[in-house]
Amino acid sequence: MSFDYDLFVIGGGSGGVRAARVAAGEHGARVALAEESRMGGTCVIRGCVPKKLMIFASQAGLLADEMRGYGWDGAQAGRFDWEVFRHKMDAELTRLELIYTANLTKAGVEIFHQRATLVDHHTVALADGTRKTAKHILIAVGGRPALPGIPGEELGLVSDDLFTMDSLPRRVLLVGGGYIACEFATILAGLGCDTVQVYRGDAVLRGFDRQARDMATLQLSDIGIDLRLNVNLTGLERNGDRIGVTFGDTSREDFDAVFWATGRAPYTAKLGLENTGVHLRANGAIAVDEWSQTAVPSIFAVGDVTDRVNLTPVAIREGHAFADTVFGGRARKASHVNVASAAYLRPHEAASVGLTEEQAQARGDVDVYATVFRPMRSMFAGSNARVMMKLLVDPETDRVLGCHIFGPDAGEMIQLAAIPITMGATKADFDATMAVHPTAAEELVTMRQPVRRHRLEIPAQAATA
Ligand SMILES: Cc1cc2nc3c(=O)[nH]c(=O)nc-3n(C[C@H](O)[C@H](O)[C@H](O)COP(=O)(O)OP(=O)(O)OC[C@H]3O[C@@H](n4cnc5c(N)ncnc54)[C@H](O)[C@@H]3O)c2cc1C
Repeated sequence: MSFDYDLFVIGGGSGGVRAARVAAGEHGARVALAEESRMGGTCVIRGCVPKKLMIFASQAGLLADEMRGYGWDGAQAGRFDWEVFRHKMDAELTRLELIYTANLTKAGVEIFHQRATLVDHHTVALADGTRKTAKHILIAVGGRPALPGIPGEELGLVSDDLFTMDSLPRRVLLVGGGYIACEFATILAGLGCDTVQVYRGDAVLRGFDRQARDMATLQLSDIGIDLRLNVNLTGLERNGDRIGVTFGDTSREDFDAVFWATGRAPYTAKLGLENTGVHLRANGAIAVDEWSQTAVPSIFAVGDVTDRVNLTPVAIREGHAFADTVFGGRARKASHVNVASAAYLRPHEAASVGLTEEQAQARGDVDVYATVFRPMRSMFAGSNARVMMKLLVDPETDRVLGCHIFGPDAGEMIQLAAIPITMGATKADFDATMAVHPTAAEELVTMRQPVRRHRLEIPAQAATA
């Protein structure tokens, strides 16, 4: 049977673009890609990139405070001009979007700027009614913000809306405790909005190491966010120009904007999956094996739509591995072990690779090397902000199982720590590494004694069995 293409990719985000570019450009496959919105997907257009630019923009107040501590009499952040910033940010996103499109075209990928849905195992339908056949189809449609299902929720905004607001809200409510909620609260507070964040749990950043979570929770309050924990929302209603929010205890407050950051869901609705026999998991994610192959041999899926580890580098790696395996004659799997990640909070970021202390403790014996200290830079300026560095070590093998950092540029540091940990480095390897002085990061190679030792308690019966 002859097909129009060797590969049809649905979705021009992190995973889809990489797979298409490698399959066509490096392995010579005939490839088409459909993108219904802007090329680059969530990361480039409404995620990592604009968010990080806004994080940078939002730290002026903290820097001015610090510089006053260094003798810059009267240092002030001045007035933030959202329109000027937004204009520049839009231009930057357009620049990146054009680069993504140009790279695909250069690699020989045919691009359809429209929605695509599945018709059968080898056929997709484009929004203009045309149909295309392909030997393989890659679903890389990503995820969408998920709403909590409460009355009036449509009055709230989602993460996509942060980047296109006409003006900054005076009083804003962030709902959620994940990294997106915390980063957005940090951004909005830093840009001068009166910011309230509510979360139903007792510490933000679920999934990170508990000690880092506690420090992040404290920091959010320290930078002026009105953080309320163990709080649920029960409804939203319009109140003139404002939004009235009812909390679980029936108290009510008005806000100029409410942002839901209550999770994301795979974007599988109305994709035509019912025509194919592709299996979904309970949460709507596409079920795939370690090769990113679905239950239908000709259909693969990568990235957030598979809900494995929902981060850009993971989607890229999965897309690349798929292209190498299917078109490059080089079987490759994307590893989901030791995926480093960071929450870009200010002034200190939370960053992590490997097991958390809680996970390591549940797995077996673990020695905890940790230090909490006031770093030279901010201490001199009179700040109480504290840094945390932690290594989790298997006492039997001496292998470092996890590393957690809460501090300035922790995201940059964890990228480097992830290399030895992925290679299987031992604590002795860290100890043998010469420190770079004076840095905060040198603590990673100078912690001599464990601060805690967790030993797995074996029930007496099991121990004697
Ligand atoms: C606010 C925010 C901040 C984030 N920050 C980070 C971060 O700091 N670091 C990090 O690693 N990750 C971050 N992420 C996560 C990261 O953006 C995603 O993991 C990544 O973009 C997933 O890539 P993907 O290819 O699976 O999907 P996406 O990038 O979402 O791309 C999917 C594309 O498919 C298109 N599409 C969907 N359906 C169709 C269809 N039927 N036809 C045609 N096109 C379709 C969409 O328009 C979209 O462009 C962030 C996400 C958000 C929302």
